[in-house]
Amino acid sequence: MSITEARPHLRTVRPGQLFIDGAWADAAEGRTIPNLNPADGTVTTQVAAADPADMQRAVRSARRAFDEGPWPRMSAHERGRVLLRAAELIERDAQEIAFLETIDMGKPISVSSGIDLPFVTQAYRYFGGLAAHLDGATRSTGTPTFAYTLHEPVGVVGAITPFNFPLILSTSKLAPALAAGNTVVHKPAEPTPLTALKMAALLAEAGLPEGVLNVVTGPGPELGQTLVDDPGVDKIAFTGSTAVGQSIIRAAAATLKKVTMELGGKSANILFADADLDRAVDDAFWAAFFNTGQYCMAGTRLLVQRSVLAEVTERLVAQAEAVTPADPLLDTTWFGPIAHQAQYDKVVEYVGIGQAEGARLATGGTAFHNPDQPDGLYWRPTIFTDATPDMRISQEEIFGPVLTVLPFDTEQEAVALANSTKYGLAAGVHTRDAKRAHRVAGALAAGTCWVNTYSQFDPRMPMGGYKHSGYGREFGPESMHNYTQVKSVWMDLRE
Ligand code: NAD
Repeated sequence: MSITEARPHLRTVRPGQLFIDGAWADAAEGRTIPNLNPADGTVTTQVAAADPADMQRAVRSARRAFDEGPWPRMSAHERGRVLLRAAELIERDAQEIAFLETIDMGKPISVSSGIDLPFVTQAYRYFGGLAAHLDGATRSTGTPTFAYTLHEPVGVVGAITPFNFPLILSTSKLAPALAAGNTVVHKPAEPTPLTALKMAALLAEAGLPEGVLNVVTGPGPELGQTLVDDPGVDKIAFTGSTAVGQSIIRAAAATLKKVTMELGGKSANILFADADLDRAVDDAFWAAFFNTGQYCMAGTRLLVQRSVLAEVTERLVAQAEAVTPADPLLDTTWFGPIAHQAQYDKVVEYVGIGQAEGARLATGGTAFHNPDQPDGLYWRPTIFTDATPDMRISQEEIFGPVLTVLPFDTEQEAVALANSTKYGLAAGVHTRDAKRAHRVAGALAAGTCWVNTYSQFDPRMPMGGYKHSGYGREFGPESMHNYTQVKSVWMDLRE
């Protein structure tokens, strides 16, 4: 689908408006901001620029829907049915949603439609089914009492999401929060709000009552801060950078909100000399460059056993040089632009930092000029070698298409190196030695460890961080703990 053919779809998301209390509404001051397509710099549409008063209105709506509305009081089966119906509607509109995600974020349409959309559909089905499994327990206390637990929703959830997987990372919050009977105010990332607006429309069509989901677009820090400060919000579910996460934790303390934090990463991918190199090198490449490197779990530190270092580096460089950044709306594209200007500038800055630190730029390190889209934010896959573990390019999250390769000699050294950053989101291990694979996976301080693979996902499997990568888990039954609280009920049975 070309952008011209698909342009009418933009109308269905009512992009110039907010979704509050079950209806589309202008921002209070009527302000809008242009939404840019990173592939060519064109304005896709205008998005409502809410102010704090709009956010407070959205919170009041969610509060009312929780305190007085039918949603938390409905049977879990009925709530589950709404989520299952939403999955059907996502499938019905899959082409349109994938298109919106691609023009908004720059993600290749092959990824939006072939990976993100099927995953999101599966996730709504999964949580739709899980809604009816929020069972409490009866406990034998040794006293003449009937004692049992109830799993109750937390209340109003403020969902704050990043720009890199707009739809998947809103689903990871909305689907379990709604399944458990909470109401939600969603604040999507400023550069990528389109699919959040589309989901507001779809969930309303699926039968979500008024006020249960509100979507507020506009300036990120100001609106996010208002949401975090509002005493009408019970919980913040945040995905984003560690620095913003820390500021939210501090602010949330004032109203003692519950928080879950899915934060940054600098994941190590360990490649032992005995690995199946054909598969391991390809995995390592896409571990770093999937989603143009804008991927929290990206394997951006590739640790390679020294005896295969030269061969692995040579193969990676060849693969990088065979990749041409291209228009994400083409079916053949797997490597698109960087999502927005500030992120692009950060990549430029870190490439400069790596060179100044003395690492060797093995390939890339420059913008890519796409003659058809001269204003696109295209950057070549970039690989640094001859780096040391203490360099900033080895320690800090860049969040772009930049890979740092580091050598190691022994298993012990590999584990120590892998665990030597403040982050702990994900890790990879490539080896044919099964005992070593389990030993190393056990020793890594990371919330997800992939062995002889990378970037495998399923809504049934939890993901989340150790250390500065955050706390709480998204997906899997574990994620329901984020959205429920447990009440103990004791009843005296004495005559
Ligand atoms: P960001 O921290 O800049 O922004 C994330 C969200 O927070 C956005 O919606 C933004 O508008 C909002 N925000 C900004 N300032 C705020 C404030 N003061 N108070 C409240 N909200 C505020 O992150 P980003 O650039 O959108 O995304 C990239 C980051 O997200 C990377 O660090 C990446 O690793 C992380 N991330 C983590 C995961 C995970 O699952 N752990 C997944 C994806 C991305």
